[in-house]
Amino acid sequence: MSTVQPNGSVPERGQDQTIIRMEGVQKWYGDFQVLKDINLDVRAGERIVVCGPSGSGKSTLIRCINHLEKFQKGKVVVDGIELNDKANNVDAIRREVGMVFQQFNLFPHLTILENCTLAPIQARGVSKEEAEATAMKYLTRVRIPDQAKKYPSQLSGGQQQRVAIARALCMTPKIMLFDEPTSALDPEMVKEVLDTMIGLAEDGMTMLCVTHEMGFARKVADRVIFMADGRIVEQAPPETFFSNPQHEMTRNFLGQIL
Ligand code: ADP
Ligand code: MG
Repeated sequence: MSTVQPNGSVPERGQDQTIIRMEGVQKWYGDFQVLKDINLDVRAGERIVVCGPSGSGKSTLIRCINHLEKFQKGKVVVDGIELNDKANNVDAIRREVGMVFQQFNLFPHLTILENCTLAPIQARGVSKEEAEATAMKYLTRVRIPDQAKKYPSQLSGGQQQRVAIARALCMTPKIMLFDEPTSALDPEMVKEVLDTMIGLAEDGMTMLCVTHEMGFARKVADRVIFMADGRIVEQAPPETFFSNPQHEMTRNFLGQIL
């Protein structure tokens, strides 16, 4: 499936539809190799679900895409920008990539509205008025505009996670990364967050979601990736992935979670 060109070159920005390319990425924590030769191309607009056992490297993989983690070998190119230690490139990539974590990571001392306007004002130089208008647009989209003046602790977990999604969208990212966004939620709040994510997917957002919500995967994923032991073991469209998993590790994993 890889679209790496025969000469190994990476296309210029905008030349093809590949928006994320990982080539031969390897990462170690000390002696422990957490990512082993990761090759992954993501097309603009593609929705990818990443699943696999705990400790298989899923979080590390997606964190390499916005440079929250460094890697020792290989290459990551996001929208034509190669990730390296140049601060300019890291800033450029962070502008394009939004991230939502398992723990919502909202600033507790800021209101919902302030959580959403902080980065646009401070990192982008957007005026307060414009930032607030944008924030209200996305808070409306995640269906909690009425909570704007409250503080995170006054909201339910599901509402807080929807704020985290709105906050990421306020930076108008081209790509959204989700790392188990519903794992910390009470069961009755999972659906409202998944519905928000489904809405984003339907709007054409490029998404990489680490999640074990297989109903979500069946509904929106173009591709499901199964990781084990630092490798991409198997990937396929959901129809194939669930009905005809090729690897024993995948079958075992699906047997445990389905
Ligand atoms: P997953 O998200 O699939 O559960 P992670 O990417 O979080 O997996 O972690 C993969 C492996 O790397 C795990 O064995 C974990 O213990 C190890 N690991 C993660 N972060 C660190 C770290 N900062 N230092 C050392 N080991 C780490
Ligand atoms: Mg993880």
